[in-house]
Amino acid sequence: MSEPLVIVGNGMAAARLCEELAQRALGRYAVAVIGEEPRLAYNRVLLSSVLAGEIAASDISLKPASWWSDRGVTLCYGAGVTAVDVAARTVTLSDGAALPFAKLVFATGSRAICLPVAGADLPGVMTFRNMGDVASIARAARRGARAVVVGGGLLGIEAAYGLAKAGAAVTLVHLMDRLMERQLDAPAAALLKRALEARGIEVLLNAATARFIGDSHVEGVELKDGCVLGADTVVAAVGIKPNAELAARAGIAVNRGIVVDDRVATNRPDVFAIGECAEHRGICYGLVEPAYEQAQVLAARLAGRDARYLGSVNATNLKVSGVHVFSAGDFLGAPGTESIVLSDHGLGTYRKLVIAEGRVVGAVLFGDTTDALWYLDLIRSGVAIETIREELIFGRALAERQAA
Ligand SMILES: Cc1cc2nc3c(=O)[nH]c(=O)nc-3n(C[C@H](O)[C@H](O)[C@H](O)COP(=O)(O)OP(=O)(O)OC[C@H]3O[C@@H](n4cnc5c(N)ncnc54)[C@H](O)[C@@H]3O)c2cc1C
Repeated sequence: MSEPLVIVGNGMAAARLCEELAQRALGRYAVAVIGEEPRLAYNRVLLSSVLAGEIAASDISLKPASWWSDRGVTLCYGAGVTAVDVAARTVTLSDGAALPFAKLVFATGSRAICLPVAGADLPGVMTFRNMGDVASIARAARRGARAVVVGGGLLGIEAAYGLAKAGAAVTLVHLMDRLMERQLDAPAAALLKRALEARGIEVLLNAATARFIGDSHVEGVELKDGCVLGADTVVAAVGIKPNAELAARAGIAVNRGIVVDDRVATNRPDVFAIGECAEHRGICYGLVEPAYEQAQVLAARLAGRDARYLGSVNATNLKVSGVHVFSAGDFLGAPGTESIVLSDHGLGTYRKLVIAEGRVVGAVLFGDTTDALWYLDLIRSGVAIETIREELIFGRALAERQAA
């Protein structure tokens, strides 16, 4: 008889886990996926492209309904799990239904953080995390509307771009002294600012939000220096928080996220966590690739193989049409590392590689990202680069010719 395996959350990590299980352990488990969002799992990464009007919302489903049923996966979406009883091995859904499990996987992702300032609950103040948010932002993004985006990280920039493309007058407000400070060094961030300004987005750095102004709807954003920006719409993209409360209530160890070991197992038997809700070796990743790597390890283990998750290299691409940005690994360069830099301010291109002990450990590319995956492979594999070092910064074609 198949063992009941319940996956809480029907996001990107859950979908990848089912895909991997279908390849490795078909028939061994009776899989049920429970998702709060009222739709099939979709590619969340592409929400920015939906907002920018580059693809339709209907195009981002990860799998058609038939894919799930063909593989015998029971899908329940539109009803979240409200309680987990680890001892009795049951989950309870918001509609009161209860499901038994032999193995349980948390794949509950994260949610957007709201700014802890006055007015954050005013209508017109939004976040950017799911399909519902995209629909709300898109409705507000009409020609001539005044929009303020708070947060100059990847999501904030992509939201600002989507709003500007729809014709809104957009101001991007960022607390730090450069955009995407978690992925870019100062020269690359300066080029990015210039590229956004060229697309009509006003960028304010070192700008702290004091409060949102308005009575029945947001009317503006007041900064801590007293400056007031008029706004019909505000998108706050200031960070994410792992959805770990359900696990905590069930007595599972939670720190910032649900704590897992190298087997992506929690501290309770047969209970696992993958994706943005999981915390591995003190890190909660906010990217999809680590979620996929964790899903792969878990599927292998559920199929009876020994597999370990040892952590991921962070790598990011910005999805703003015509603005090519890539960052991976130790992009700033820790003490003891060296940097190779190639920069042409006039052309708006910048390339930096960080080297440690004869290996590439980080990269920032702006303007031309054609070799991004190759550099990422070098970082992930940790291969020695001494034979290609001279041409390394000029890209794969020249470096490989040198090595030949
Ligand atoms: C606009 C945007 C752009 C992004 N761009 C990139 C990018 O370029 N590159 C990149 O690597 N990453 C990007 N990300 C992040 C990426 O989407 C996430 O890393 C990825 O979706 C994580 O997958 P997950 O399955 O862990 O979480 P999610 O995809 O968030 O899925 C979790 C699901 O669980 C559901 N859930 C939560 N609690 C419960 C419950 N109690 N019961 C039932 N269901 C529940 C949630 O509703 C959600 O549907 C982006 C994210 C956004 C929002």
